[in-house]
This record gives sequence, structure tokens and C-alpha cells, in this order.
Amino acid sequence: MRLSAPPITLSFSICGALAIWAACWPATLAQPPAARQGRGRQGGARPQDTEVWDPEPKVVTPGAVDSDPPSDAIILFDGKNLDEWVNTRDKSPANWVVHDGVMTVKKGRGASNIETRRSFHNYQLHIEWKIPENVTGTDQGRGNSGVFLASTGGGDAGYELQILDSYHNRTYANGQAGSIYKQGIPLVNPARKPGEWQSYEVIWMAPVFNADGSLNTPAYATVFFNGVLVQNRFELKGETLFIGKPFYRKFDSAPIKLQAHPDPSEPVSFRNIWVRELN
Ligand code: MG
Repeated sequence: MRLSAPPITLSFSICGALAIWAACWPATLAQPPAARQGRGRQGGARPQDTEVWDPEPKVVTPGAVDSDPPSDAIILFDGKNLDEWVNTRDKSPANWVVHDGVMTVKKGRGASNIETRRSFHNYQLHIEWKIPENVTGTDQGRGNSGVFLASTGGGDAGYELQILDSYHNRTYANGQAGSIYKQGIPLVNPARKPGEWQSYEVIWMAPVFNADGSLNTPAYATVFFNGVLVQNRFELKGETLFIGKPFYRKFDSAPIKLQAHPDPSEPVSFRNIWVRELN
């Protein structure tokens, strides 16, 4: 491509001053020939008219691989301890089992959901989970857990993104892995077989409430399951309920909660959990 400087007189009329012209010069160079010749222009509009330079996005250092936390992430579990978690039941230190860099649901006596010490509003969440290879059971009683994207109270109160063994294990579609429980059927089922690690990448936009408690803006969830889109900015109708129609209850920020489901199947494990606040 032939490159030549724009005529000096034109450059002054565009940029006004030599210093500004110098700043404009690389952008001028970057235009394809047709645009530089004015084809497709809107009433003499200039390329620079639609350039936005500020604010400049903050630099974030990505992980070595996309599943690694970027530099601005809050690490919720890196395989070492449960310092970021408490038992939902009484807010005591989380009592799930940590072994070989993995946390596993504690079932039976003393079982409790666990939730983050911190509260979040809007965020990006990365979480990896595994159904045990020796899992037994059927339907909802096979590898059931869940990520509550906002925990609004004790037990299962809040907004659950379901975890379940959905590899050749039929259940109601709005209750399988990748569903927003009893509300959002996943677009597809990309579940891996038991014994293999799986991932959720979530964008959670919390609901916004008016001062009187009425809903201003609903919650939205976007979810990639093993890298496959399963919830595309899904609009929630309220908290996810086991029984009954969903409805909203006012809150602002809330912990993220993991479910110790009471079914008797072998417990689900988790690793590599991090969050980026989007407020
Ligand atoms: Mg569940």
C-alpha cells in the first residue's frame, strides 16, 4: 500500500495545530484507502470524530491460561484452605474437606451449605467442579450441588445455578446442570462424565430494588458450562425455589453459596474458584 502524508493545509484544518496533527497521523495512516478518499463519509465526518481515548481501560494481567485468575480477581479457593468461606448455618468456619488442592462437600452429620465471607453485587465468577467417578443415584439424587449466585438467607435461599450429574442422567430440564434452578433451561447439555472436571464461567448482574422494596431491574445470568454458552443473559423471575413460583426479595450484595445437598449420592468436589467484581 502506498503511504503518503496528507496535504499540510488539510492536516492543519483537521487538527488545528501541528502537535495534534502528529497525534492524528497514525490514525490517518490506519484508514483503508476508500475511507481516506472520502467514500462512505457522513457529511464530512472525520475518522477522529468517533475515536474515544478516555477513560483508558485499566490494565489487567491475564492468567497463564484462561481458567487462571487474572490480576484483579479475588481468589475464593486456590486449593489451600477455606479461609474465604463459612458455614451458612451458623457462620462458623467452613467445615468441608480440603485435600490435594480440592474441596469436597461434607455430607451427613454436621453438613451445611457454605458461603463466602464477602458479599458481592455484580461479578464474573469462575468455578470448577467434579462429580465423583463412583457416583450413584438417579435424577436429582445424583451429584446434586449448586452455586447460589446470591445467598439471601439460610439453607437454600437465593439464586441457584444447578450442579448435578447430567451425563446420561435425565431429570427435569430446568433442574439439570447449567440450569437456573426451576427457571432457566440450559440452551444445550455440554456435561462431562463423572470423574472429569467441569467449569462454570458466570456473569451475574444482581437485581436492583427501589427503596420501598419493589423490583427496579431483574437479575440476569450468563453462564458458560465447559466453555459452552448455556444461559444467555437469562432474566430471572426471582429467587430459585424448590416449591412454588419465584419472587424477589430486596437485597443489595450477598455471599456466593455452595450447596451441600442432602441426597445420599457421593459428594461433589470444587477447585479453582475466583471472582471479579463488576461494580
Ligand atoms: Mg442443587
